[in-house]
Amino acid sequence: MKSRIDFHIHSCLSPCASLEMSPRTIVARSKAAGIDCIALTDHSCTKNLPAFHEVCAEAGMNCLYGLEASTAEDVHVLCLFDNLRRALDFGEMIYSHLPRLLNVPERFGDQPVVTVDDEIVGFAEKLLINGTDISFFELIPMVLDAGGLCIPSHIDRPMCGAIEHLGFLPDLPYDAVEVVGEVASEIAWRWPVVRFSDSHHPDQIARRFTEIETESFTVPALREAFQRLILK
Ligand SMILES: [Zn+2]
Ligand SMILES: [Zn+2]
Repeated sequence: MKSRIDFHIHSCLSPCASLEMSPRTIVARSKAAGIDCIALTDHSCTKNLPAFHEVCAEAGMNCLYGLEASTAEDVHVLCLFDNLRRALDFGEMIYSHLPRLLNVPERFGDQPVVTVDDEIVGFAEKLLINGTDISFFELIPMVLDAGGLCIPSHIDRPMCGAIEHLGFLPDLPYDAVEVVGEVASEIAWRWPVVRFSDSHHPDQIARRFTEIETESFTVPALREAFQRLILK
């Protein structure tokens, strides 16, 4: 079965995202845009995943539970799980590795935790767009060991992309690499290449997505489906 997936979407919890990005809005917009499976990937925090989980269940939307972790080198990496508990545990661990610098909402934007009904029930206190103290080389095996899919974000983007920040893309067992522009053939021959929306605003949902052939949306099934994207 061919499916359209978008595994890079920020909710209002990310300070750089629109406050309109509630789990309910994200799911409704993605459904309307014909996306079959989505992941919520806020910066280094998973506090909006419980509401996202409930909205997806109610709407019959396939989903993964994720976050976009930031490494000590300021490289972004999508960490995706098919199990809410595992994602929450991993998210708490990543959050604990952020520096003890509190968000200044007037400067960086609010970081609200919301319910399924878009009610604000709290705020993430630490500034989520900071880098953690975990290096890129440490993070990749941590995601895989925790049972997640590991996809370096926008590797070809100067801001927070692996190639610019590390000087090269290390030869590590990523499940895929996310690109926004053209991709060099050495990369497309080595790893599955995916494109996701990196939505921060409702209008950006589905602006990029990837089509895969998969029977289900579990981590093992997706890993297999990604392998079929590698250029032969
Ligand atoms: Zn990013
Ligand atoms: Zn992002």
